[in-house]
Amino acid sequence: PERLLQLDDVNVHFPMREGLVKAVNGVSYHINRGEVLGIVGESGSGKSVTARSIMRLQPKQALDAGGSIRFRRKSGEEVLISSEDRQSRTMRDLRGNEIGMIFQEPMTALSPVHTIGTQIMRTVMLHRNVSKADARARAIELLTKVQMPRPNDIVDRYPHHLSGGMRQRAMIALALACDPTLLIADEPTTALDVTTEAQILHLLKSLQQELGMAIVFITHNFGVVADIADRVAVMYLGRVVETGTVDEIFYEPKHPYTQALLRSIPKLGGQKARRLKTISGTVPDPFNVPPGCSFHPRCMRAVGGICNVTTPPEVRFPNGQISRCHFAEEFRSEAAE
Ligand code: SF4
Ligand code: MG
Repeated sequence: PERLLQLDDVNVHFPMREGLVKAVNGVSYHINRGEVLGIVGESGSGKSVTARSIMRLQPKQALDAGGSIRFRRKSGEEVLISSEDRQSRTMRDLRGNEIGMIFQEPMTALSPVHTIGTQIMRTVMLHRNVSKADARARAIELLTKVQMPRPNDIVDRYPHHLSGGMRQRAMIALALACDPTLLIADEPTTALDVTTEAQILHLLKSLQQELGMAIVFITHNFGVVADIADRVAVMYLGRVVETGTVDEIFYEPKHPYTQALLRSIPKLGGQKARRLKTISGTVPDPFNVPPGCSFHPRCMRAVGGICNVTTPPEVRFPNGQISRCHFAEEFRSEAAE
């Protein structure tokens, strides 16, 4: 499989009054062409900040503290996305022609004062040399692609005329306007009711298959990951603690944090519905990241003198699975019971 995107040892820091927050602390992951990578973790784990650095859309106060992000363009050429790139021509071109992004809140991407059609047409005309009529036809085509009801009518509507699920579809249509090879989806279904969430996930999965697009799908919900992802990266306090295929992560998790997250999923339809168990211990505090393995205060397996002292290395398994735990080798086939 061809590498589309490769992050190596990416670091993003935020200087705050209370101290330096290492929001992203040596993160490496990759995504192949046409694949869905799920990024899972609790809020504050650095999932969004990492994804935004790919687009160079991180907040102004963010300090790029090293690492590299490489992206393979449609032409086959590999480009290095660097910190100075925020407003560069390369970055604008990547955002317009190769990488799309969708968010939890559609109004982050949509303007309230322009019709859906106008917004899509503008994007199309900015990056393609087409007439207004062709751009409008393209807008209707995109709205049809995202299964918008009555696309010929919706094209002339404003976002406030639309339901939450329809706005989400409009935002997806806008993101697809540039035929992206990579779509970054930051909790796009988190604010939706369960039925609409299922529809949008299904839509994204079928668009991904139809268009051969890769998706970085950020979520705090393991159920969503099971539905959409091919591979998964689990993040905790600014680090990737485990990476593997969806099956490896669900059936053979090799990091205590992943194991705890899986145990916290309510099991419905079993003999007896389980109560949602939360992970025990202190809530992670990004201003006070524990030394050694940052998960040690909450880890049931932590060993004093090791886990609270030494940062665990990446342990790589023959199948490609990676776990950042001193005792990773000991966790064989330990599915959450
Ligand atoms: Fe738990 Fe220690 Fe492994 Fe960290 S390194 S996850 S504290 S066992
Ligand atoms: Mg987030």
